Amino acid sequence: MRFASLGSGSQGNALIVEAGTTRVLLDCGFSVRSTCQRLARLGLQAEQLSAILVTHEHGDHLAGVFSLARLHGLTVYLTHGTYMASARHRLAAACCRIIDGQHAFVIDDLEIQPYPVPHDAREPVQYRFTDGRHYLGVLTDTGTVTEHIVDTLRACDALVIECNHDRDLLARSRYPAVLKQRIAGRYGHLANEQAADLLCQIDVSRLQHLVAAHLSEENNRPELAVRALAQALGCAEEWIETADQQTGFDWRQLN
Ligand SMILES: [Zn+2]
Ligand SMILES: [Zn+2]
Repeated sequence: MRFASLGSGSQGNALIVEAGTTRVLLDCGFSVRSTCQRLARLGLQAEQLSAILVTHEHGDHLAGVFSLARLHGLTVYLTHGTYMASARHRLAAACCRIIDGQHAFVIDDLEIQPYPVPHDAREPVQYRFTDGRHYLGVLTDTGTVTEHIVDTLRACDALVIECNHDRDLLARSRYPAVLKQRIAGRYGHLANEQAADLLCQIDVSRLQHLVAAHLSEENNRPELAVRALAQALGCAEEWIETADQQTGFDWRQLN
């Protein structure tokens, strides 16, 4: 199993997970054209995708989903709440499959476990992937780390974890107070120290890859996110990668 990012942040998100010949796109917050350019950087074409999974209806995750799906005949997997909330963007010809936000399902060589997260969307979920040998946990767009999140992500071999903001930078930023409250609130986004605290609560002994994702370009700096996570793990900062808005991150292989 291997994974890569097409880009990550408030301007758009998309992650790709591959096992054998199965390749699923997790969210697509970019235009079709931009998505195809980003896929090409990873040596892929949209025709090689197996399906699209959606976490929630916010534009930075949904913008390109239905046009890409329609263009390439891909099935879109999403919760009922996300399906209802995305009615405006949905295109008649795009094929949707409603998932239960608590129950695992299989797409060819990948087993996918959705899990609910507290975020200000209709029925947001995040996902954990396995090819039967390794586990990849993805967590972005959550305001709080719940016990259920800790339980789902314990003992993963790779983690992509939101480090949205540094609390001090957010407090001092030019954002209006109401937006600051939304971001820092229970249904907003994870701060660096919340992500670090999550790492302290799970078994990281199998961890081969750790990527900080969904960083705010206004309210965070890659070095702050990396420092917080490295301190929590007691590892070298070089070992931790950050996903950025323009380039995401290159393929990471699980062995
Ligand atoms: Zn987002
Ligand atoms: Zn969101």
